[in-house]
Amino acid sequence: MSLSREKSAHQELEKSVARSNKVFEQNKELKEEIRVLKQDNKNINKEVQKLRAKLENQESLTAYDSLKNHNSQKHKNKLRQEDPTKLLADTLSKMGKSDIFKTKLTEYEFFLIYHDAGLTRDSYRKLKRFLTKKGVADPFPPLRSIVKMEKIYGSRDVFDIDKIKVIQKKKDESEVEKLVMVAQLRNIKEFLNRRLQNLIDNKKLIFDKCTGNNIWIAILGDKGSEEFKLSLAVGNVDSPNSSHHLVPVAVFDDDESAENVARFLDKSIRQLNDLKEVKLIIDGKEVVIPIKQFLCGDMKYIYEMLGHQGASSKFSCMFCYHEEKKMVGIY
Ligand SMILES: [Zn+2]
Repeated sequence: MSLSREKSAHQELEKSVARSNKVFEQNKELKEEIRVLKQDNKNINKEVQKLRAKLENQESLTAYDSLKNHNSQKHKNKLRQEDPTKLLADTLSKMGKSDIFKTKLTEYEFFLIYHDAGLTRDSYRKLKRFLTKKGVADPFPPLRSIVKMEKIYGSRDVFDIDKIKVIQKKKDESEVEKLVMVAQLRNIKEFLNRRLQNLIDNKKLIFDKCTGNNIWIAILGDKGSEEFKLSLAVGNVDSPNSSHHLVPVAVFDDDESAENVARFLDKSIRQLNDLKEVKLIIDGKEVVIPIKQFLCGDMKYIYEMLGHQGASSKFSCMFCYHEEKKMVGIY
């Protein structure tokens, strides 16, 4: 063998070794890739299994709208439903009931707005029909709740209503006739008695250091918008300023003045002057409890009721005869 041939054979050998090395490397890489792919496959299979289980589970659930009885309503949270209208409506109504998002007026609120807005049975029905027709949520309770409230608060058996004609002088001395509506509680003592007995029966009437063994009654007067209102507030309760403890006595739609109160509310004033005690049943026994009356209201009302000329008069104080207005520094 010549030297050159041996050399080329040697080169060939080297080349083939290099080639086989390369194949070996490639093989290794491929093996690694296969391992990764196998792992991926495993993971994918797992995911598929999970999704399949989820799907099977969902198919066994019931749609919300098809739920009827109370028991199945309890399981609302496990439901599958594409159209959420009913669910949403129920959610809103539930929120309304828990005072988070109100969708309905209470009977009392409805009663207030009904009369404040001057609605009639007919206009109310029209309004309600219109809302329903337009698919707007209707916040009003049924009409029968108005009838119910009117029986409680506005009964003709409880109040006397009079229309009184008065002649008013205008600034230019011309006279105009005006009709004043006056409503008065027919029997103040009886109404108050019932209210107090109710408080006792509900264990809400309190006798403390202040009241002693007396019932404290505040005679409140107030001119709000067009009407003057006279009411009683019971002091022997936890929150005497709450409107729930007010007893409406009288109302008329004219100015707040001593003359008007004397003229229109004569019957009420006489009854209040006679209101000195109440007979209540406590622990099954009849007890006579004395009443202490207080005059409460704003300065204008108190000045009027005292027959005082008012805060801008010469003797401006309702308690003393000091001539001028005192400065804060003098007190
Ligand atoms: Zn004074």
